[in-house]
Order: sequence, then structure tokens, then C-alpha cells
Amino acid sequence: MLPDSDRQAGDLAAPTPRATVALGFPSIRMVVENDVCVGCGVCSVATGGDIDVTMNEKGYYSAQLNSLPESTVAVGSSVCPFADETPDETAVADRLFTSTPSEDPVVGRYISIQVGRVTSDQRLLGSSSGGMTSWLAGELLDKGLVDGVIHVGSATEPLFEYMTSGDTEGLESNRKSMYYSTTVTEVVNRIRGDGLRYAFVGVPCFVTAMRHLGASDEVLASQVKYFIGLVCGHLKSSFFAQSLAWQTGVAPDRIDSVDFRVKREGRQSSDYDFSAIDSSTGTEFSRPTNSLIGGNWGHGLFQLNACNFCDDIFGETADITFGDAWLPRFKDDWRGTNVVVCRDPQLAELLQDGVSDGRLLLEPLGAEEAAVTQEGNVRHRRVGLSVRLADDAAEGSWTPDKRVVASYEGVDDDRLAIIRSRRKLTERSFEVFPRAVAAGNLGKYIMGMSIHIARHDVLYFRRSLGKIKRGYVVFVRGVWVPSISELRRRSRASTSNGQAD
Ligand SMILES: Cc1cc2nc3c(=O)[nH]c(=O)nc-3n(C[C@H](O)[C@H](O)[C@H](O)COP(=O)(O)OP(=O)(O)OC[C@H]3O[C@@H](n4cnc5c(N)ncnc54)[C@H](O)[C@@H]3O)c2cc1C
Ligand code: SF4
Ligand code: SF4
Repeated sequence: MLPDSDRQAGDLAAPTPRATVALGFPSIRMVVENDVCVGCGVCSVATGGDIDVTMNEKGYYSAQLNSLPESTVAVGSSVCPFADETPDETAVADRLFTSTPSEDPVVGRYISIQVGRVTSDQRLLGSSSGGMTSWLAGELLDKGLVDGVIHVGSATEPLFEYMTSGDTEGLESNRKSMYYSTTVTEVVNRIRGDGLRYAFVGVPCFVTAMRHLGASDEVLASQVKYFIGLVCGHLKSSFFAQSLAWQTGVAPDRIDSVDFRVKREGRQSSDYDFSAIDSSTGTEFSRPTNSLIGGNWGHGLFQLNACNFCDDIFGETADITFGDAWLPRFKDDWRGTNVVVCRDPQLAELLQDGVSDGRLLLEPLGAEEAAVTQEGNVRHRRVGLSVRLADDAAEGSWTPDKRVVASYEGVDDDRLAIIRSRRKLTERSFEVFPRAVAAGNLGKYIMGMSIHIARHDVLYFRRSLGKIKRGYVVFVRGVWVPSISELRRRSRASTSNGQAD
């Protein structure tokens, strides 16, 4: 391993023990003070509710430590996924997946990586992507391997929350991705000690948080049998749903329900609609997500600050992880396609059974291509994270201990500007949207964000021009490909890594 000083931005740091925290007090205090709390709620479960996790003024859950004694806070710190006291994802995966044959710096440990979908078109329509997450959860129930599934589903206020489903009906009616802040406290307290077995579905940090909780809670460890991860770009505050609904014509105080992923035949799988139902009329309004302010995930509007400090894309501590196979060859299929990373032999068998009896279509995918399915996401969590860590260190701000090094090495000025501008866009969205809501004026939000988004997009454009100068040409569907001269240059230099950014 190279010493950290020789590492480039985006590289993983040499492993360091995290257990001894030099701060002298539980690092969860810094997590909360610095708004790095993701609101998962496991600290509340671990402390018997002494740590309260509530929805904050920015529309997401966060822990309240206030005047709690240090001994209580230390218990919370011992399970928090962002605290320096807890082992990182590599260490957790090393402990759990001792027989996985392969390991990749982006994907983590794995038995197999595949792409595919369920074969039933009717099922596919009601799912976000290839429908395999809810399919697998249903299989675990049907085969009696669990008694219930802990997952996120529709609620009234807030719009989504963690719940349990004990039958396929509950699973079926709570599918698709819910880009919305949730917390596990209530559901985990409810199921703890009920004698039933569960599968847990969550974004990577929630899965890791539940693993930490299980490591200190035998009862829960014996109950939660399977961990199903969702590939994650970032989590959104409830303002995200409100802002999109408002743009379709449903004001924040009139939202009955929303659907973040409405598939439309004939369009690309990434070109889905957002829809909202007006509680006063029952009317459904929908618009293409990409046409809405905030619909571009690269802009990072309403992203939780915790996600600025996350380096787990593929749910490295989950038994199996599902995401979208964002590859050019699958984008044309509007029905959606999953990327699947399996780390558990029993779950691998279930997938194989599904293929054998014709309910699943799956084909193998290499780890490098799996990373390409999340190209922007990987940049955000590797080079982007390096820069954010270095920026915060330069300002003297606390940051959580991460596997990625703090560095500017190898980052050009254009990329640096994009990373910093994106962070500002997120902050601005949290300032502008509440002001627009208070004034009852959507225009204030649109105008307030448009100018900053335009400035941000100029940075991309500038970088694109740079690429053209450097010998890239742009492909009509927005994928950068190198020109012939660039390919020749690469072949001479033999440095091509297959990525075209
Ligand atoms: C916040 C968030 C960010 C994501 N970012 C990316 C990304 O950057 N790249 C990518 O490839 N994929 C991302 N995904 C995953 C992707 O959106 C799909 O959820 C995934 O591909 C599974 O699709 P599916 O058709 O198999 O799931 P479905 O069959 O539709 O089932 C989805 C299952 O997930 C559960 N679920 C939905 N939302 C949540 C939630 N917030 N927490 C816990 N459980 C939930 C549902 O209850 C349901 O059981 C993200 C998901 C979330 C929730
Ligand atoms: S355990 Fe979860 S809710 Fe508690 S402080 Fe950490 S991130 Fe926040
Ligand atoms: S980006 Fe990371 S921290 Fe944010 S929700 Fe996803 S897994 Fe959690």
C-alpha cells in the first residue's frame, strides 16, 4: 500500500483502526453538531429512546443529543454508522462475508454480479427498476425463510415510513424507490423480541447501522436474518417530494401521495415521470422528472449533508444489493433493469432458482462495468469525497473518519469547481425552498434556484468543451466517447481505464 501522502483524490486510504477516538468524547456529538447524521435511528434504539430522532426543520430525521449524559451518548456512538467508534464497511464486510471469492474497491465483496429483471411485465410496471428487490423479499416470505420484511412504504404524514410486511400484498403495494427521509426507530422497537424473523431493506448506511446494532443486540441479531441493500446516490429531504409535487401542480399542503418513478413506454428507463395526487381533488398530476427543478440528481438539491461524507455505493455490508443498471445498452428498455450484487450463497441460490423456473432473466456483469452503472455516483463518492474532506480540513471543520483520503491530487480545476458548486447548490436549495413555501410562491423557488443551476451547468459545459479540446466527441445520447485521435493517444499511452469522463 502507498502511504496516504502519495495517494490521489478518490483513492481508498490505507486501513487504520477507528476504535480509538482521540476526541475524548463520543464522536456522535460531532456527527450531530456537524449535520452528518442521516437520521437512521439506531442510536435511539440502542439507548432505549433516550436519544430522540425527530424530523428537523430541513425535512429530514436527525438525532437530538442535547443534555444527555456522556454514558448514554457513548452507547449511541457505538452503533452510529458515521461515528468513528464503529468499524467501517470494509471491516464489517470482512467479518460477515468470509467466503466471498471476490472483492472490488467500488462494489465491495461479492459472490456474483449480474444484471437482469423479473420476467413479468405486469410486475415490472409497479417496480422502480427490474423489480428484483420486491421479488426477492417476496421469495423469502413465500419460502418461509422470514416471517416479515422491514422496508419503507407509503404513509400519510410523513409520506413514507419504515414498516413491516408479513405477506406479498404488503410488499406489492409498497414497491418503487422512496427518495425520502425515514428512520427505523419505531419499527425496530416494535419488532424487537416478538419472536419473528425478518429481512431488512435499506440504503447502505441504514444496513450498516442495523449491522452495528445487531453486533451489540443479540435479540435483534437473531431476528434480522437477511439484509437487502439498495444502491444509493444520496438521500433526499422531504422537501424534494414537496418541491417536485408543487411543480406538477400540487402545493406542499395538498399532497396526498407521490410516485418518484412512473415508467413511460417508449422513453428511456432513466426518463421516468414524477407524479403526485392532490388530496383535495384526488387528481393525479405528473411530469417528466428530468424537466423539473431538482429532477437532475447531479444537482444534489435537498441532499442530506451526511451523503457528502459517504463512501459506500453498493451496500457493501448487505447480503445482496439491487440498483439500476444505468448502462447504455439497457437504457433503451423503458421497463428497467437491475444491477445485482450478491454476497450470500443462499440468496444466490434463490436467484438461480428464479432463472431456472423462468421468473427472472439474469446475465453476469464484471465489477468494472458494475461501477460504470454508477459512474457519476462513483465520482461523487471517491474524487468528490476526497475534495470535500480536504476542503473541510482546510477550514478546520470536523469530518467523519472515511475510507477515502482527503486530497486534491489529480483533480483538475474544472472538476474542483463542479464539486464545490454542487455542494453550494444543495445548501441553497435548503435556504430557498422554505422561503418559497412561507410565501406560498413557487416562482420564488424556481427563480431562486434557476440562476444557480444555470451557473453550475456552465461549469459542466466548460468541462465538456475542455474534453472536446482534449480529443473527445460527444455521443448523441449524452455519453462521452473519445475521438479516433484520442483513442490512438490512449493506446500509445496504454492508460485507458475504459471510463470516458
Ligand atoms: C434514496 C435512494 C437512492 C438511490 N440511489 C440510487 C442510485 O444512485 N443508483 C442506483 O442504481 N440505484 C439507486 N437507488 C435504488 C433504485 O432506485 C431502486 O430502488 C433499486 O434499483 C431497486 O429497484 P427494484 O425495481 O428492484 O425495486 P422494487 O421492486 O420497486 O422494490 C423496492 C423495494 O425497496 C424498498 N424501498 C424503497 N425505498 C426505500 C428506502 N428509502 N429505504 C428502504 N427501503 C426502500 C421498497 O419498500 C421495496 O421493498 C436508490 C434508492 C433509494 C431509496
Ligand atoms: S445513529 Fe443514525 S440517527 Fe443516530 S446520530 Fe448516527 S446517523 Fe444519526
Ligand atoms: S448516500 Fe450514503 S449516507 Fe447518504 S443515504 Fe445513501 S448510503 Fe446513506
